[in-house]
Amino acid sequence: MADEKKLTTREADFSAWYNEVVLRAELADYSPVRGCMVIRPNGYGIWERMQRALDEMFKATGHQNAYFPLLIPESFLHKEAAHVEGFAPEVAVVTHGGGKKLDEPLIIRPTSETIIYSMFAKWVQSYRDLPLLINQWANVIRWEMRTRLFLRTLEFLWQEGHTAHATHDEAEEEARRMLGVYRDFMEGWMAMPVVTGQKTDAERFAGALRTYSCEAMMQDNKALQAGTSHNLAQNFAKAFDLKFQAEHGGQEYAWNTSWGVSTRLIGALVMTHGDDIGLRTPPHVAPIEVVIIPIYKSDEERSRVLEGANRIIQALTEWERRDPGRLRVHLDARDGMKPGAKYYEWELRGVPVRMELGPRDLEKNQAVLVRRDNREKRPVSLSTLGEDVAELLMRIQDDMLIAARERREQHSVRERITYDRFREIMEGPGAFVYAGWCGSAQCESQVKEETKATIRVLPDEEFRSAEAPTSCLKCGKSATAEAVWAKAY
Ligand SMILES: [Zn+2]
Repeated sequence: MADEKKLTTREADFSAWYNEVVLRAELADYSPVRGCMVIRPNGYGIWERMQRALDEMFKATGHQNAYFPLLIPESFLHKEAAHVEGFAPEVAVVTHGGGKKLDEPLIIRPTSETIIYSMFAKWVQSYRDLPLLINQWANVIRWEMRTRLFLRTLEFLWQEGHTAHATHDEAEEEARRMLGVYRDFMEGWMAMPVVTGQKTDAERFAGALRTYSCEAMMQDNKALQAGTSHNLAQNFAKAFDLKFQAEHGGQEYAWNTSWGVSTRLIGALVMTHGDDIGLRTPPHVAPIEVVIIPIYKSDEERSRVLEGANRIIQALTEWERRDPGRLRVHLDARDGMKPGAKYYEWELRGVPVRMELGPRDLEKNQAVLVRRDNREKRPVSLSTLGEDVAELLMRIQDDMLIAARERREQHSVRERITYDRFREIMEGPGAFVYAGWCGSAQCESQVKEETKATIRVLPDEEFRSAEAPTSCLKCGKSATAEAVWAKAY
């Protein structure tokens, strides 16, 4: 049972607040292995909702699921030069099995490009076998030194899409398409607005030609890279001899993409929507959307109210048959616990709507609905409950996205500022700063050294300022692109 001690506020210590919400809402717990995490049912329930939605979106865009092994021959990692350089420092290596030293050590996948493209090379012979569009739901291990629940853990769950195409343009189109799928999911399901765009060379995925990213602003004004999509060009195809017979004859190397999102999204959800009371979950990804709290004083009232609550669940279930899977309702019938304590617990866990039901409500043929997002309270008639609850949930979903987007815009700096002002902002409250960049890696790394801020993305057109910046934030030379700078997780 949750203890009712108040959470640290976001303002007092955002990072302590985050840890407390994750632990006390029972989303995850620390594991006996340093840096690993146990995802508890409340957290896993959110992941399952996310998985289901994404899986449907992947399938609707022509992808199929498959599964590849956890263990990869170590030599595979060395076949693509940039890839090994990027991943070698954080790879876990298995050297013994069955009590014997292995002839060739095996790595535990930090990502699966190598093993998947080695298999693609077997399966693809002709242009007719392309495009090959595969997704895998899996766990991966990256040996991180500084870990935080959901945001950065040694092991995490994710999906990785891997595709092969006949041309550069088709691969590019795919990489962009999946970036769009991620954005639709993050905005439509998680009510989390993102800025999309291309990563600079310094922030690009190890082995990619181009990396695209969805960047979300957390409530401490830091950016969180929520999902990435890569055009891998022919780098892995050449490393793994992934060739095909071209339509007009001759052998050509395939073009690959990969793209992924992980359980990190749950951390993003907490930091986008949580408040000083706990988590706020957008209805679409909430394992429970409505919790019914019966209110009673005597045993007689209790049985009357519980009977009423069960009738409501029955009615909602029947109403829901018209639109299955729409309403996820839970009756909190625990006895010996005060309604107030139950309110506290469900608010901490972020259930979007609470329904309070007492004997007097039943007499009036009503129930009281309380929104978690803004705590607005109103009675509704039991006769139209299904429609009313469904409509309220839709409204909450929309309002949460609007609120998060307004928050982000309030903390975005689009006017032209000096580098000194920029440093002040990054040392102070932080922001997404839209500013010019000359294209030099040196300016980028100096800014990072001096302010810890990085270029999150070179934003896609719709996010760019009406008037393009003309000079570089750092060196003042003429700008080749507009960049979104921020500190990041
Ligand atoms: Zn510059």
